[in-house]
Amino acid sequence: MNKQEISGNLQQLQKRIENACLRVNRTSKQIRLIPVTKTKSVGMIKMAIELGITHVGENKVQELISKAEQLPHEKLEWILIGHLQTNKAKKIIQYIKEFHALDSIKLAEKLNKELQYIDKKIDVFIQVNTSNEASKYGIQPEQLADFLNEMQQFDQLNVVGLMTLALHTKQESQIRQCFQLLRKLLDESRIYYPDISRLSMGMSGDFEIAIEEGATDIRVGQAIFGQRVLPDEYYWPKQGKSNG
Ligand SMILES: *Cc1c(COP(=O)(O)O)cnc(C)c1O
Repeated sequence: MNKQEISGNLQQLQKRIENACLRVNRTSKQIRLIPVTKTKSVGMIKMAIELGITHVGENKVQELISKAEQLPHEKLEWILIGHLQTNKAKKIIQYIKEFHALDSIKLAEKLNKELQYIDKKIDVFIQVNTSNEASKYGIQPEQLADFLNEMQQFDQLNVVGLMTLALHTKQESQIRQCFQLLRKLLDESRIYYPDISRLSMGMSGDFEIAIEEGATDIRVGQAIFGQRVLPDEYYWPKQGKSNG
């Protein structure tokens, strides 16, 4: 994929975002696009930067660090959108301003401690498993209230929103239900975090539905940078048995 093609894809995407917004009386200014560059080359990320992209999402710690170190002079913000193992918390924090997949108190504790050492704060989204699939990461919806209550002790972690991956299906109504649930949970979260306001939901295949249901941050890879060779399962490993 060359720069012109990426540029064309970004323009098309912008139109689709605007159309989705129009359908529900929102404006595209309310939506932040997070271009997802996993599996894509550093050369391609450079093209994206030339096209005005200022932040990108990566799913894996090692890949994010490797790319960030190959682009040391670029003013690019790196966002970790995938699962983080506690033992990699220390390594990743210097590279990121934002983390979209916080799903355990143990991890929060470790992140908070390591961030204290370097006197840094990051924005976090709590990942919620809205699809009830055993294969997905994220806390269960009914655990969210307790989770947020406990999160308040971690001063280095700004809890700005919730994140989810919708059910992988062609059934639009089932995808929509996942997004609606996350939005409802966000409303309920204001008891603990009055300023919590963001919903990180929607990818290439379902971002329009996500926008209709209130997404503020959409994470889009393939619609910008072309199809990936690796299956999604490589990024969302099975945690035991899947229902789906
Ligand atoms: C890869 C990925 C995306 C983007 O998926 P696309 O199909 O490329 O748009 C979004 N969120 C997460 C967590 C991902 O790993």
